[in-house]
Amino acid sequence: MSSPYSWLRKSLNTLHQANWHRSVREIEGVSGPEVMVEGRLVVNLASNDYLGFAGDVRLKERAVTAVETYGTGATGSRLLSGHRALHSELERAIAQLKGTEDAVVFSSGYLANIGAIAALVNSRDLILSDEYNHSSLKNGAKLSGAKVVSYRHSDMDELRSHLSEYSSAYRRCLILSDGVFGMDGDVCPLPAILDIADDFEAMVMIDEAHSAGVLGETGAGCVEHFGCGDRPLIQMGTLSKAFASLGGYVAGSSELVDFLRNRAPSWIYTTGLSPADTAAALGAIALLKQQPERVRQLHENAQYLAGQLDAIIQEQRQQQPEQPVYLKRLPTDSAIVCLQVKDAESVLELGQQLRERGVFVSVVRPPTVPVSRLRMSVMATHTKQHLDKCAIALNQCLCS
Ligand code: PMP
Repeated sequence: MSSPYSWLRKSLNTLHQANWHRSVREIEGVSGPEVMVEGRLVVNLASNDYLGFAGDVRLKERAVTAVETYGTGATGSRLLSGHRALHSELERAIAQLKGTEDAVVFSSGYLANIGAIAALVNSRDLILSDEYNHSSLKNGAKLSGAKVVSYRHSDMDELRSHLSEYSSAYRRCLILSDGVFGMDGDVCPLPAILDIADDFEAMVMIDEAHSAGVLGETGAGCVEHFGCGDRPLIQMGTLSKAFASLGGYVAGSSELVDFLRNRAPSWIYTTGLSPADTAAALGAIALLKQQPERVRQLHENAQYLAGQLDAIIQEQRQQQPEQPVYLKRLPTDSAIVCLQVKDAESVLELGQQLRERGVFVSVVRPPTVPVSRLRMSVMATHTKQHLDKCAIALNQCLCS
């Protein structure tokens, strides 16, 4: 008799055959610009700890104090027994950083997206979504039951033409876009999105997961970077990347936040953020305020690495013109530097060789992205030596 679960093995076999199978890799100790992976000290270009806060002693102390004061868990949903003074303090700090009236903190960025989108629109409404948006935006859109129309990546003509075609048949329209696209590193054309939204009275929600702490003079994100803080929009973000903690948020008008506290199921029916995570995020926002120069250092580092990689690719082309290795560096304005590689097998091999040479980068394959790539996320705390080591190792891999 066949088992009702026998399809699992077949499905896993298919993933293995396509080189799409994924598994976890253990990181030892505190995360930093260098980290221990499988017993080897490697340059860490695979974390989202953009500002290098995750190992900072000040954040650790805040988290420990919060555990001592409040215990380990929030013990309930915010509306019942899980709300603590720390949560309000964090929400005020986020609103201040973002220049918004208020903010609401969710237990993760994924939950913030799912909950907010499903609260804002339903089957009577229309969502326009960039094709490269993060899974949480896409799944939030699906969960909402709204009509979802995706537009080609950052293609403003297509966004406008989809809105012209569809918007009149729906009650409300919501445009969704990543601020910085996490698997590419480019920035969304926010001013153009907002102009188009104005023409169709559409709402705009920007996911600042990879732009908060990274873009803008004070590190407030993509909205600050473009000087669009005075335009009506919904700013979502995560506390798990530059802010070195866990949790997500939505920042905007008091009415928006009050509405979400009453209507977003992934906020209402889930346990409040733990005291340690809340305190660590508060510590990160405070540290960013004290050290905005980290944002500038981060950009310098990302641009330096991008330049080094470009030089290697060019050298490869000159030395082996008859055998061009397919490597393409994607344009970046953020802390994410990506190199497209021709297929899943080659990118896995390259990732492994780099690790053996002491450099840890993320290997990203379909179905996460259409074309396989090495994704390097730069930190403000990387030194030039760390970044040079990456470039040298890549050059060696290509020459071997
Ligand atoms: N949005 C984007 C663009 C992301 O990259 C991520 C995480 N990878 C999330 C949302 C989800 O955030 P979290 O990890 O806090 O759930």
